Amino acid sequence: MCPPDRIAVHAADTAAAGAAPSPSMIADLVAANHILFDQGVVDAFGHVSVRHDKRPDRFFLARNMAPGNVTAADIVEFDLDGNPVDAAGRRVYLERFIHSEIFRARPDVVSVIHSHSHNIVPLSVVQGVKLRAIFHMAGFIGEGAPVFEIRDTAGHGTDLLISDATLGRALAAKFGDAEIVLMRGHGSTVVASSVQLAVYRAVYAELNARYQLQASALGEVTYLTADEGRACTNRVEGQVQRPWDFWKAEAAKRRAA
Ligand code: MN
Repeated sequence: MCPPDRIAVHAADTAAAGAAPSPSMIADLVAANHILFDQGVVDAFGHVSVRHDKRPDRFFLARNMAPGNVTAADIVEFDLDGNPVDAAGRRVYLERFIHSEIFRARPDVVSVIHSHSHNIVPLSVVQGVKLRAIFHMAGFIGEGAPVFEIRDTAGHGTDLLISDATLGRALAAKFGDAEIVLMRGHGSTVVASSVQLAVYRAVYAELNARYQLQASALGEVTYLTADEGRACTNRVEGQVQRPWDFWKAEAAKRRAA
């Protein structure tokens, strides 16, 4: 636990520098942690970050803990080297370099979600098979999500974790213009221009993966074309506020009293 007085001191410091984050942004980051657990994207592992709204070279991420229990007092500020600005004794995630290096490489990205969601992992390990958009809610996946192979960067003996900046840079480079990258034998990372959209994409990427496994078992699958994917993305993602408001209210109800 972080002593509340340390939080207050730290908040005062950043406020004096003119760089206090928007309280509603921090509240949404807390809600995102809860929603991702409620929707089955993360369990005790996985994490979500948001770029600082006033300092693009900083971002926020929970301390090392299960996302379903995160509160505002658990949110830690980081620089783009993955160093906490003031962890105040709190342990931080080993894989924070996923976030720091994507924020560095992609100025358009405001939120990053890393998870090991259950139906994604099988699609990260079969040669010649890729996660592909199979229904209209997941057009952003496109015709085949890139797969990050950690062996290409760090050889055949790693623990598969993105535990330093070199690995983070290699993962970030795998994105190109993609919104999701699978990580072989590990999980996936999703990016978006808002935390609401990142949560939406993480939820529907997992659902798409489940549908893809189910449909593939039945026979030959008809996937979305690239044009269908783009058209669906344009149509559906403009409505992201609807599921966000619903999921956020449900998450608050579950955690009331
Ligand atoms: Mn991981």
